[in-house]
Amino acid sequence: MAKTFQVIAGPCAVESREQIKEIAGFLKSCGMNWIKGGSWKPLTWGPKYRKPYQKYLGQEGMDILWDIAGRYKLKTLSELHRIDPCIRPDRIQVGARNMQNFSLLDNLNHLGQPLLLKRHFGCSLEELYASTTYLTNCDVWVCERGVVVPHTHGYRYLLDYQAVIEWKMKYDHPIFMDVSHWIGVSWAEQGKDVLHVVRKAAKAAKVIGADGILVDIHLRPKDAWVDPWQALTFEEFQRLLEELEKIPC
Ligand code: PEP
Ligand code: MN
Repeated sequence: MAKTFQVIAGPCAVESREQIKEIAGFLKSCGMNWIKGGSWKPLTWGPKYRKPYQKYLGQEGMDILWDIAGRYKLKTLSELHRIDPCIRPDRIQVGARNMQNFSLLDNLNHLGQPLLLKRHFGCSLEELYASTTYLTNCDVWVCERGVVVPHTHGYRYLLDYQAVIEWKMKYDHPIFMDVSHWIGVSWAEQGKDVLHVVRKAAKAAKVIGADGILVDIHLRPKDAWVDPWQALTFEEFQRLLEELEKIPC
């Protein structure tokens, strides 16, 4: 991959045509090439932290994302749990929980489409690499998204920078960092400044040589269907881009 730092942003979940239109228009105006959004979400929160309407749209959402992204000439990244959807994103995200779902990996390899393979929160780099060996027919990017360890300092996961540094030294697949999903529930409990936390994480990712980041954005983060505590507003995202610009690749 050419030495550029890719920023792939979008809502955690595709919620409506209007939402994706606004986000796609905004991303285009920021000079972005990609939009991300989940239409099949692993909903992993218990009732205490779950909005009553937390849900996802499935095929309908995938169609919306594909249609609007096409109009704005944006490439799409979206998670699939199976390969049957007839409309698939430009790059298929394999969620952390599916990193070792070997029958899914076999099926994806058969499809041969570009993939973003997220590292499971309990798996080693060796295991992540092993999963890529099922995908020799695909262009694979991997993604660090945080791990489960005894101390996470008030967040849901620990974002593992060491893993990224090590991956860059040992393996060839480009590695991304998801700078949103590690935050988790504690921001909601403790009133953390999400821009501050995401901004630091994103800048650090660029400094250590990650190939890009994934970032959640939302028109009104608190109303997000899924993971409302971690999304940046449009204005916050613009500020983040300005700061990233100042860091050389
Ligand atoms: C996501 O990207 O929306 C997601 C659920 O991520 P992960 O698979 O890393 O938990
Ligand atoms: Mn999410």
